[in-house]
Amino acid sequence: MTDEVKVHHEKQWEQIEVLGLLDARKVVEVSAPEKLTDGHTKPKRFIKELDNPSIKHYINRKESPVRNICEDFTTREDAIKMFDKLLWDSWHACDAMEKPAREWFADRVKEYKHGNNIDLICDCRRFRGNDAGLGLTNLKHPDDCHGYTLKKYIEFLADNSNDSR
Ligand SMILES: [Zn+2]
Repeated sequence: MTDEVKVHHEKQWEQIEVLGLLDARKVVEVSAPEKLTDGHTKPKRFIKELDNPSIKHYINRKESPVRNICEDFTTREDAIKMFDKLLWDSWHACDAMEKPAREWFADRVKEYKHGNNIDLICDCRRFRGNDAGLGLTNLKHPDDCHGYTLKKYIEFLADNSNDSR
């Protein structure tokens, strides 16, 4: 009999995830505490690693062609908005992307279409604050990061390069 009532919650990971420095893809299972027959209580929350590891990219290191260069001259929040504008309104709209950044995106699109999981890891935050339900959003766990602009752009490029049928 497998129809035991379980409060079961598994986070769905996307193919591209934007992570903080200390984040990792994990499956957290939450179930109602159960009294086992031997008197022990089954833990409420346990974590297991994912089966297929993802390709990690550190997106804000000095040598990264897609680091947020706007951070050098303004606040974190403004820098994220500026980077988004820079990428879409200038790099993309005016076809003004430097070669290293262009190649970086091309490589990510390849990985993406290959079916690889991609982690974009940024050092602008230790943990991200956008895991639904965790309620972690605060200064230390901010929601935003220029990595989301990168993720969107990779997905955009992949969606728009499907003509090779
Ligand atoms: Zn960031």
